[in-house]
Amino acid sequence: MDYDVIIIGAGAAGLMAAIEAGKRARKVLVLDHAKAPAEKIRISGGGRCNFTNIHAGPNNFISQNPHFCKSSLKRYSAQDFIALVRRHRIDFHEKTLGQLFCDHSAKDIIALLLTEMRAAKAELRLETSITRIEPISDGGFRIVTPDFAKTCTSLIIATGGKSIPKMGATGFGYEIARQFDIPLVETRPALVPLTFEGERLEAFQALAGVSLPARASHGKTRFDEALLFTHRGLSGPVILQISSFWREGDSVRLCLLPGVDIFEALKAQRQINGRQALSTALATLLPKRLAQAIGEEFQELKNLADYSDKRLRQVCARLQEWSVTPAGSEGYRTAEVTLGGVDTRALDSQTMMAKTVPGLYFIGEVVDVTGWLGGYNFQWAWSSGWVAGQSA
Ligand SMILES: Cc1cc2nc3c(=O)[nH]c(=O)nc-3n(C[C@H](O)[C@H](O)[C@H](O)COP(=O)(O)OP(=O)(O)OC[C@H]3O[C@@H](n4cnc5c(N)ncnc54)[C@H](O)[C@@H]3O)c2cc1C
Repeated sequence: MDYDVIIIGAGAAGLMAAIEAGKRARKVLVLDHAKAPAEKIRISGGGRCNFTNIHAGPNNFISQNPHFCKSSLKRYSAQDFIALVRRHRIDFHEKTLGQLFCDHSAKDIIALLLTEMRAAKAELRLETSITRIEPISDGGFRIVTPDFAKTCTSLIIATGGKSIPKMGATGFGYEIARQFDIPLVETRPALVPLTFEGERLEAFQALAGVSLPARASHGKTRFDEALLFTHRGLSGPVILQISSFWREGDSVRLCLLPGVDIFEALKAQRQINGRQALSTALATLLPKRLAQAIGEEFQELKNLADYSDKRLRQVCARLQEWSVTPAGSEGYRTAEVTLGGVDTRALDSQTMMAKTVPGLYFIGEVVDVTGWLGGYNFQWAWSSGWVAGQSA
């Protein structure tokens, strides 16, 4: 064999697997069709890379088998990656909700991975497309590219999901799974802004740029984070989170200013100054443009003093029990991740190897394990990559 391990995909998961396999003195080659490695790390977290979450645990992931990720996350935890970041003297901070970001640049994380990879003597070849993969009859694989063919004992597929095709995302990993009769869970864009049509869209467009704390719920799932009105509909962390649970045709329930007793606040305003307009009173709680828009919906009475408790409760219900039905999502063009992928029932959770194809591994986003927003997706890439690197 030319190599012990060939890894396709030089993203977060592939580089972590290369480092770990290389440390075990395996001869490792990483192939990627892109010009540069780890492009998604570079653009992640607004250029600062939310590289993990200190609270990362199995409950922060969506998968048809919610237990599958437990083993990897336990064997290589957020604390393990944080220790690696500290060893490389990369400064970082917690932004919110356990989310850790680089102080300076996401490029620090890429430099960390490339330094570790070189130390582990793993090779990296960029701008290399894969023409085909051939299983070798007595074990192993032949990887054929337009320029060369190389054989390996273990093959790790780390080609990510379909999100942001502009950045090199392809359905390659799913094609390889199909080639080897490995089942797939249907894929969908996730962590993605939701779009609207008609009058609702016009109303949201008029508010584009307005942001406020909100709770978004779908079934029993709910998130409390910032909501953002956009020219296409709704976005912001709270919408990205709930989008992973939303399906075409479903409604999303919104509660603006969760935890704030808007009714009591409006009653107090009515007592302080009964001659003010409803929108003026609302503006003490909400961004001005939103207060104005809601005020216009309930503009039948001039003075706040004329609003009965019943009517004020209706205004509060409008703000805090608001059901909206998105027309769709912005799709893979802007989605941060892809839900679904290689069915975890076909993989060994201790090694990430396919149960029916010895030597073939799938790691990272290509697998049906998808994290919430907040550093969980990189943690899955580190954990699953580390585990495969111990075995391949
Ligand atoms: C804008 C944006 C911001 C994000 N921010 C965060 C964040 O802050 N925190 C977080 O946890 N997650 C974030 N994510 C999600 C995170 O980037 C992914 O979950 C993670 O990169 C997945 O790692 P991966 O190694 O599995 O795949 P990827 O990082 O996507 O790497 C796959 C690699 O495979 C290569 N490849 C694909 N097809 C082929 C092919 N046919 N032949 C050869 N090579 C191929 C690609 O070029 C790429 O280098 C963000 C995603 C986006 C899009």
